[in-house]
Amino acid sequence: MDKVSEVPITNEQMEYLLLLQQEILGKLAVGNQHQETLDDLCRSAESMLPNAVASIMLFTDDKNSLTVRAAPNIPIEASKALNGLIPGEYSGSCGTAVYRNVAQFVSNTKEDTRWAASAFQDFAKIFGINACWSMPIRGDNKLAIGSFALSSMEKRNPQKFHKKLLETCADIVAIILKREAEEKQLKFLAHYDALTGLPNRTLFADRFNQAIAHSKRSNSLLAICFLDLDNFKAINDNYGHDAGDKLLIEVAKRITATIRDEDTVSRQGGDEFTLLLRDIDSPSQCEKLLERINHSLAQSHIINGRPHKVSASIGTTLYPLDNTDLDTLIRHADQAMYHAKLSGKNQQQLFNILDDQQIIQRQERLSEIQQALKNKQFELYYQPKVNMKTGQIVGVEALIRWIHPDKGLIPPLDFLPLIDGTEIEIQLGAWVINEALQQLDDWQKQGINLEMSINISSHHIQSLLFLDQLNEALDKHPDVNSQDFQLEILESSALGDIETINGIIKSCRNVLGVNVALDDFGTGYSSLTHMKNLSANIIKIDQSFVRDLLDDPDDFSIIEGIIGLSHAFNREVIAEGVETDAHGIILLLMGCELAQGYGISHPLPATELLTWLANYTPNQYWLDHAKKHLSLPQKKIILLQLTTQHWFNRVKKELLTMEDSGFGKFFIQCHLGMWLSRVEQKELFDPTWVGKLKKVHDLLFSLADKLIKHHQAGKIGLAKEGINELELAYEQVCTVLAQQRQNHTAQKSFASLITKL
Ligand code: C2E
Ligand code: MG
Ligand code: MG
Repeated sequence: MDKVSEVPITNEQMEYLLLLQQEILGKLAVGNQHQETLDDLCRSAESMLPNAVASIMLFTDDKNSLTVRAAPNIPIEASKALNGLIPGEYSGSCGTAVYRNVAQFVSNTKEDTRWAASAFQDFAKIFGINACWSMPIRGDNKLAIGSFALSSMEKRNPQKFHKKLLETCADIVAIILKREAEEKQLKFLAHYDALTGLPNRTLFADRFNQAIAHSKRSNSLLAICFLDLDNFKAINDNYGHDAGDKLLIEVAKRITATIRDEDTVSRQGGDEFTLLLRDIDSPSQCEKLLERINHSLAQSHIINGRPHKVSASIGTTLYPLDNTDLDTLIRHADQAMYHAKLSGKNQQQLFNILDDQQIIQRQERLSEIQQALKNKQFELYYQPKVNMKTGQIVGVEALIRWIHPDKGLIPPLDFLPLIDGTEIEIQLGAWVINEALQQLDDWQKQGINLEMSINISSHHIQSLLFLDQLNEALDKHPDVNSQDFQLEILESSALGDIETINGIIKSCRNVLGVNVALDDFGTGYSSLTHMKNLSANIIKIDQSFVRDLLDDPDDFSIIEGIIGLSHAFNREVIAEGVETDAHGIILLLMGCELAQGYGISHPLPATELLTWLANYTPNQYWLDHAKKHLSLPQKKIILLQLTTQHWFNRVKKELLTMEDSGFGKFFIQCHLGMWLSRVEQKELFDPTWVGKLKKVHDLLFSLADKLIKHHQAGKIGLAKEGINELELAYEQVCTVLAQQRQNHTAQKSFASLITKL
């Protein structure tokens, strides 16, 4: 046992110890460099023992040996000799103190077993150490983490005070070391993720700045990737957060092992990681690097003895192709990652710069529209609807226009698609309802009685507040008869759940008393179902069918079908896009009396509409036609005359042009041909006559076919030469058609009408 003399500690000595403690801890508090404070502590201790030097030794990181941490008055060579001291029995004062975790007071190094080894003897001799007292420094768990020692040039026995001095110093060192470790941890946490030890966002940003400079110097690309584990939540939920955490650590290790030294992986939080890949030459090179990560992650992970499978979705953007700041790059990579998820997970996706620009532009335009609504830049134009049979104006359709202060009039299809499904669409829709009702009210007060229809988007009509909104708007105009108000809903739009939408339509009609039309009818995927299951009372034939009515036998048949169905289901039917007199006549022949279109009037501002109304004269051809009472076969023949004439005129016109302008399919298949192929079943006509018509039709058709082929082959001259012959063949067809008409009561007046058209 080391002897500590029983000399009591004096008050003065106690005071000194207190002062020392205060002074050193004060330095710690004001944030002095820890090394400096440790050195000061050594010096203070030395001042208490003449001819002695103090030293602090600590375990190295591997905890195998001790190394000198502070010893301001020990020669460098002595420190070097001490470094690497392995604690054990008889390993000098310090080695033994640490090993035993008990203070060692060697009073005479020359005669002490603890210093017996030759290395210690040599050391003592070289540096003149004759006594050495060492106190273990203890960490949190009271285990020794190092030693505080006073080595004396003289042999000497310690007193109680010395023991206390060493204890105090060792305690102070422990406090300083603890603080140092905490600071280190804080520093680490400021730059690294606590769970995985990966760089955090801050360090990632730092590395990014370095990488950007490098990319500029080397003209290489820099990939910023966003990696998100697929179905990670399920692992957390099913196996607990502990398993989840372990998996994240494992994933972090695998990614780190897969990427190159110059790359960085960081954890953003949760199961999200970002990667910075430098020196990328091409997108495909980057793709390969990421494939390696996916491959490495795909190998099963053993967590708590259980195998787990994980995969990741990765989005990437490449700087400087995507030339923006780090936050935006990460957002872009995140967006691409989201696409990877949507496309089925476990894959990577490259960010498309164009997509993003479109998103930004869309956002800008949306707020522009919002602003325009506030600034009252929207206006309703009104397009009349007439009854072609009576000539009466039945109503108007309100069509929105954006009167832009710089760009002028912007048509609805240039901005409505942008707001599809948004809150602005509902706000704008509400404005349309109120504006149209106000106009209707105003007209009514001026003695103008019209029906008004407005267009309602399917998103708006299906919004929760729609019915209340409409009800309130109608309440504001008690003089307006809700029967005069009509909603047009696009048949083609995603009407969602048919039952729901039908519920709304029914409430509109039965509770509020407004009419409902299915707009652009025939363009949807299941028009027949809509006609049958939706309680709309009006069907609006889409203008695209009307436009090509004369050219395209298919469109003709579609309209015929829609009109037939409307009658069968007891719906009112109106055609839009009626541009010519011929359109009107054909629609009348097919049984559709209501029409809207440029052939009647373009949509007009409210004031111009008043002038138009004042000057309106009904279309005489339509009125004349409507007066005739025609049998079904007569109607058919007129239709055939009209369509064949139209067909012939177009073929002739095309043949006369110098270049091959591309004959559409309607030249190959004409109405007459279509009809002839079906007519036999109808048994409306005399078979001998039909045979005769078929013969002249076939002649006309094969001749046209031949000439068209010449024209297409560039033999324009040859094609033109045949026109006379073609005309003769056409006249024959006309003669045969006319024969049939005369058989069914002479309708001479029609000859002039048809020539006119
Ligand atoms: P829509 O409801 O089918 O309206 C008919 C469209 O066809 C109008 O185009 C009209 O100007 C045009 N049109 C009328 N007659 C003819 C014609 O003879 N030939 C041709 N080629 N076109 C004709 P507009 O005003 O550009 O509106 C386009 C679409 O925008 C409307 O189609 C409707 O779906 C929508 N829309 C217009 N105003 C509103 C509105 O206030 N709210 C909603 N939700 N949609 C609206
Ligand atoms: Mg409409
Ligand atoms: Mg329409």
